[in-house]
Amino acid sequence: MSDCIFCKIINGDIPSATIYENDEFKAILDRFPANKCHVLIIPKKHVENIFSIEPKLAGRLFEFAAKLAPIMKKTFGFDNMNVVQNNGVIAGQTVNHFHIHLIPRYENDSVNVSWKQLELTDEQIEQTRNALEESINL
Ligand code: 5GP
Ligand code: ZN
Repeated sequence: MSDCIFCKIINGDIPSATIYENDEFKAILDRFPANKCHVLIIPKKHVENIFSIEPKLAGRLFEFAAKLAPIMKKTFGFDNMNVVQNNGVIAGQTVNHFHIHLIPRYENDSVNVSWKQLELTDEQIEQTRNALEESINL
């Protein structure tokens, strides 16, 4: 994808603070971080989001996230982290190339990952559960 920022970073057309890479993905520091040591894990193949990524590739990216997180924790001495993965404009995705955010959390920082809780009845929950369960055919 010639107009994709992350493809340009993967290709080396745009420089990045790379902390790790293999044949399948690259882990870099976010240039406009939410906090110190905000890491992005980016597949080298251009895939837009969770709806189109090959599930096994997504699994390997999350496996790496689970390996990297404790290393980040030990290196920077924080105890808390948000793992964020946005899909689509409404969900806050600004770069349409799949990526996982690892965002360290520090006491009294200014990061905000939150939502207002909906008041649903047990019946509404059951309708949703039922519809999804019927659709799952893995
Ligand atoms: P999204 O909003 O799509 O979930 O996250 C995109 C992320 O990419 C943002 O956190 C943003 O700061 C980061 N970003 C955008 N442009 C660049 C860039 O040129 N280099 C790096 N390292 N990060 C970028
Ligand atoms: Zn791309």
